[in-house]
Amino acid sequence: MSTLAGFEHILRENEPLAPYTWLRLGGEAEYFAEPTSLDELSSLVGRCRENEIPIRILGAGSNVLVRDQGVPGVVVHLAAAAFSEITWQDNTMSVGGGAKLAHLVSTSVREGLAGLEYLVGIPGSVGGALHSNVGTENHDIGQWTTHAIVMTRAGEILERGRDELRFAYRYSSLDDLVILRARFALEQEDSAELIRRMQTLWIVKKSKQPSSSDAMGRIFRNPSGVRAADLIEQAGLRGAKVDTAGISEKHANFIIVQPGGASEHVLRLIDLVRSQVRERLGVELETSIEIW
Ligand SMILES: Cc1cc2nc3c(=O)[nH]c(=O)nc-3n(C[C@H](O)[C@H](O)[C@H](O)COP(=O)(O)OP(=O)(O)OC[C@H]3O[C@@H](n4cnc5c(N)ncnc54)[C@H](O)[C@@H]3O)c2cc1C
Repeated sequence: MSTLAGFEHILRENEPLAPYTWLRLGGEAEYFAEPTSLDELSSLVGRCRENEIPIRILGAGSNVLVRDQGVPGVVVHLAAAAFSEITWQDNTMSVGGGAKLAHLVSTSVREGLAGLEYLVGIPGSVGGALHSNVGTENHDIGQWTTHAIVMTRAGEILERGRDELRFAYRYSSLDDLVILRARFALEQEDSAELIRRMQTLWIVKKSKQPSSSDAMGRIFRNPSGVRAADLIEQAGLRGAKVDTAGISEKHANFIIVQPGGASEHVLRLIDLVRSQVRERLGVELETSIEIW
């Protein structure tokens, strides 16, 4: 820990990462940091840079599969209140990257601000959502984003305006080390109407995905014009299993993991799905989940 001396109060060594991920799998982070302020984050990023220690940002862990052997370097978890503040004025909301997307959605709806309700039921943090421009078939977070404040890998804090931001299907140009805050321009609408719309969308979303008590991950990107889930079903893989990892019976783009599972089982199942879909349907599936 000598290269990271002085950060002991926010740093733990050999922290198991499974409890921080939706798949509840994977080994340990060599170092796991939970900074409580921007200054602490900034100093930590600087120290890692000086010592060439790899650094990664973990949001709510709904889009990462941590390998069984764990992750070298520092994993930073933006769990502190300093990174999750939500404020609003007129039709604009400003939100910390560590805030829960669900919290942003429910606050926007309550305040009569329309647009983000379509993201109801998508797990994760606002930073994670912006990192891959999460969304549904017709709506994504990028369409409402006007600014982002980021920390670059060099430790600089920059504001990226709309003209610099590019969003496409599950793609965002925001690939800086940390998305610290973002601003959204929304549309004013009746709050009661918005709450009804959000509730309906939530019921539909919930009915289509596995139970939230399962350890699960949403695995593949939809190739253009087709749903990955449809391809997996057409390849006859609904319910397919490798050891503790199985394709969900309810939605074929989800992998469910039984207790006591291993990331290696998920990785082998991903390989099986990719090779079968390629052989049977001639389509190359790409993962949307990030493998650490
Ligand atoms: C049940 C379920 C349903 C889902 N439904 C959808 C859906 O309908 N639509 C959809 O698009 N996705 C969906 N997903 C995928 C997932 O919810 C999103 O990708 C989510 O936004 C990831 O956010 P996170 O905070 O969990 O990120 P993590 O999984 O923690 O991290 C993912 C990536 O984001 C980066 N990251 C996280 N926070 C920051 C930050 N502050 N600054 C910089 N980088 C950061 C990480 O470094 C990592 O590279 C679903 C996943 C699950 C498990």
